[in-house]
Amino acid sequence: MSFINNWLRSDIQAINAYHVPPSGDMVKLDAMESPFPLPDDLIGQYLAYLADSELNRYPNPGAEELNQTLRQLMDIADDFGVLLGNGSDELIQLLALACETNDTILSVEPSFVMYDMIAKFTRLNYQGVALTKDYQLDLALMLQAIEKHNPKLIFIAYPNNPTGNTFDRVEIETIIQSTDAMVVLDEAYYAYAGDSFIDDIAKYPNLVVLRTVSKIGFAGLRLGLLVGAQETVAELDKLRLPYNINTLTQVSANFLLTEKAEINKNAAIIIEQRQLLLIELERVSGLTVYPSQANFILFKAPRAQELFDYLKENGVLIKNLSSAPKLTDCLRVTVGDNDQNQLFMQIVKQFYTL
Ligand SMILES: *Cc1c(COP(=O)(O)O)cnc(C)c1O
Repeated sequence: MSFINNWLRSDIQAINAYHVPPSGDMVKLDAMESPFPLPDDLIGQYLAYLADSELNRYPNPGAEELNQTLRQLMDIADDFGVLLGNGSDELIQLLALACETNDTILSVEPSFVMYDMIAKFTRLNYQGVALTKDYQLDLALMLQAIEKHNPKLIFIAYPNNPTGNTFDRVEIETIIQSTDAMVVLDEAYYAYAGDSFIDDIAKYPNLVVLRTVSKIGFAGLRLGLLVGAQETVAELDKLRLPYNINTLTQVSANFLLTEKAEINKNAAIIIEQRQLLLIELERVSGLTVYPSQANFILFKAPRAQELFDYLKENGVLIKNLSSAPKLTDCLRVTVGDNDQNQLFMQIVKQFYTL
């Protein structure tokens, strides 16, 4: 037996690593990134701003300026607390760290895989509750699972990844009211959705909302936020590693995220492109296209694996979910800019005429 096999927790040895496929110079429509680069006319100013940062010093520990920048960008009320993370993934982990040994994390399936993975990393139980056939909440099943497993944390991605839809608001409120668990509404795709739970934080002490700048043009910054009652945030903050938001992220975000009009304009373009892409995909016979409130579209496709490979051979990378439970033959494409979406559609149509 090798050293590491002997040394490492056996449950970690059994986990498959979160796989990020190499993308080379392919058109990247696999990870819900924004297609829009920094505007040229901002780059000079941005670099000057960066040059002022003191990299010999630790970052600002509380990142107060960044906290204000995000409150302004996302219209977060002053009386809510905001906790910053190195991506919202870090905040999911931090919530898990707040649990007791033997506690349970509950979420729906299919949903974001990190809820399950982080439960494993932190040695918590994980319970996935099946969505209905068209990926809606099964309220009765949820309430039954909550009763049975008494979870400490309930994660609901709203809109959901990888399905793209939101769930029934009233059903979510019923869930929040039914439980002592912390209900975490993960709004990574808030910019593309028609609804949000952020203002409901005032009503429900057991509700927190996660957001991120990853899906609105700044995946490279690694910056997420948890919004909740001030008391909740103050307690969770004890678990945060000092200086978790590095200086380059703080400085960059304080400069770039004040461009609210530009960020909103880009989101509006993606919403418009999503509608065009949806119509085009629906025209391809044999495809089942699911509604989306996010910057990606899930669709079920005959010969999904082959279509995925064919797109890749032609320089377009999307996400193949076809072998995941409850997602048989499903693929997920990120909404890109007009050229990228056209290229994608052209290859899809070509594939089905072969
Ligand atoms: C992408 C995504 C995240 C991760 O966001 P980061 O801030 O990049 O860590 C969290 N939740 C959901 C549902 C996502 O799709």
